[in-house]
Amino acid sequence: MSNHERTGLRELTMSRWHREGFPDDAVAIDVDLMGSCPNCCEPIYLWECVRGDRPKSTAYMRGLVHSLTVPVPLLLIRYWTKPGTDELDHLLASFRMGGDGSVMDAQQLQTYLQGLRVVHQVTCAGAPPWKRWSS
Ligand SMILES: [Zn+2]
Repeated sequence: MSNHERTGLRELTMSRWHREGFPDDAVAIDVDLMGSCPNCCEPIYLWECVRGDRPKSTAYMRGLVHSLTVPVPLLLIRYWTKPGTDELDHLLASFRMGGDGSVMDAQQLQTYLQGLRVVHQVTCAGAPPWKRWSS
């Protein structure tokens, strides 16, 4: 949950600063959701979310995923809310990288993500050094 959602205030100091002074090759991106292994902390999938049918570029996220040693599926999650509320009505997930190009509803998405978790368990390298040191 963003700070804006928690407090109603949005902190823009760094956002304004980088837009004024950084060259065009400095792009601010965020990861809306990363599925990760609780054991090794490696990413299993990434989400970019957008409300409804609005356009949404994932070019920089695709570049980020492509640069990973082991690329993970990048999914665009389009969601719609119940009229007059912020309550989720339904969603559709489509692949931007990885996957078979299909479009999934929420139930199909859950099944797909569970499959990714199962596949990861087979190759999971275990707790990374930084995680072992902190416990
Ligand atoms: Zn793992």
